[in-house]
Amino acid sequence: MIEVKNLTKRYGNNLAVKNASFTIQDGEIVGFLGPNGAGKSTIMNIMTGYLSLTSGSVAVSGYDILEYPEKAKKHIGYLPELPPLYTDMTVKEYLSFVYELKKAKFQKKPHLDEIERLVNIKNVENRLIKNLSKGYRQRVGIAQALIGNPDVLILDEPTVGLDPKQIIEIRTLIEKLGRHHTVIVSSHILSEIQAVCKRIIIINQGVIVADDTAENLQNNLSSDHAISVRIQGPEETALKVLRSIKEIESVQSMGIIESGSFDCVIQPKDNCDVRRAVFERMAERKWPVLNMTSNRLTLEQIFLRLTDASLTPANGGDTEAPEKAEELSETDKELARNAVFGKEEK
Ligand code: ADP
Ligand code: MG
Repeated sequence: MIEVKNLTKRYGNNLAVKNASFTIQDGEIVGFLGPNGAGKSTIMNIMTGYLSLTSGSVAVSGYDILEYPEKAKKHIGYLPELPPLYTDMTVKEYLSFVYELKKAKFQKKPHLDEIERLVNIKNVENRLIKNLSKGYRQRVGIAQALIGNPDVLILDEPTVGLDPKQIIEIRTLIEKLGRHHTVIVSSHILSEIQAVCKRIIIINQGVIVADDTAENLQNNLSSDHAISVRIQGPEETALKVLRSIKEIESVQSMGIIESGSFDCVIQPKDNCDVRRAVFERMAERKWPVLNMTSNRLTLEQIFLRLTDASLTPANGGDTEAPEKAEELSETDKELARNAVFGKEEK
């Protein structure tokens, strides 16, 4: 279990994460979704103990990341935004190198073999990393995160820069990993998160603006549960029949849009699903329903609304523009490197 409480992070006077709290249970696959610069990587870097926090707390499997960094980190495998790969090494050499650094307890050869098979890189184990495609490099990055068999995997934008085929392969791999690990994955692309995660945490300008399943987000954040219907039948009588359906609150006619039919908007009572009743009652009279669409917001629309800068109240103009956030500073690169190799011991 991971518990993040009132997490705040400041970079100088840039407030990157504001009072974020959430709990992730064992076995969950959770997505961090938010535009560039939202604070996803910052939260991940703090959860993995590679970046200090300004205030708040993070506990991994009961170990506070500041009090027991070694114990907490043992439970986490991390794929940072910039995977710290040594490109002049072969895959095998690199994994063996990480194994030593992590002081993994498992028997080396079988452990690394198993990981190579799991992420499907056995066939390239003797190739230099610099000669691998981006998709294979990303798998090697995931492989290093798996060394030591941590309970929790934190993957920062694992599909960024991949082609559609590679994206599907990485997605499938994440789903597979989710069977035995708690997985937290970030992306700025909704479909990426929706494809693999049950639960979605939406972050915007350092604030968690939503934390729920895709289904609940749609149900709870769409205030509109109405349906729009086009019926081929006599308007007046058909409207009466519709209004007699007990789950229907109100019906408003929109008039004739297509000749021979009329359109109307049906407002159900207490968010009831009235589609079947509408279909059956119209079918009984042989009045075909030509069209029926939900007025509910799509998840995409919800995401756009939640992450629309002008609608985020907490913004005091203290976060940078997205283009700027994408540039990786030396500090970021250093952080990414530390994620696997640990900080240089002095
Ligand atoms: P995301 O991963 O969602 O794109 P980040 O966590 O990288 O977002 O960035 C969140 C905010 O913190 C942005 O405004 C970014 O510019 C800022 N930021 C990130 N890293 C640093 C850093 N090392 N120094 C200063 N500001 C940073
Ligand atoms: Mg990021």
